[in-house]
Amino acid sequence: MFNVSRVDHVGIAVRNLAEAKKFYTGMLGLRDGGEEVVEEQKVRVCFLPCGDSEIELLESTSDDGPIAKFIEKKGEGIQHIALRVDNIEQAIADLKARGVRMIDETPRYGAGGARIAFVHPKSTGGILLELSERHS
Ligand code: ZN
Repeated sequence: MFNVSRVDHVGIAVRNLAEAKKFYTGMLGLRDGGEEVVEEQKVRVCFLPCGDSEIELLESTSDDGPIAKFIEKKGEGIQHIALRVDNIEQAIADLKARGVRMIDETPRYGAGGARIAFVHPKSTGGILLELSERHS
């Protein structure tokens, strides 16, 4: 059985990463953990460490990416919540066995070298839930 250890991060969809960062660093005093483009997701992300977890700001790099579509439908705001798991393959297998609907049935690459998988909102009460395994 897999283990959930913490809220890994909260993913927030923003139109303009540089502008959004000003609030989190300038007003809240969070540290800018650096940017990375994840081509597969058509997204530029910035992690801002915040105690045991992090804020992940996501800016779309394309008009047809998932973040662009999210903002078009719902506006800027919380897009997903990520839980840290110790073994992502085990987590996917256990959840599937319990009838949970997965978006990703195999782990994919996440920013910062994490291995991630999304759980379908139909199984979570409407939340897009990311499972994240990383060892840092
Ligand atoms: Zn995320």
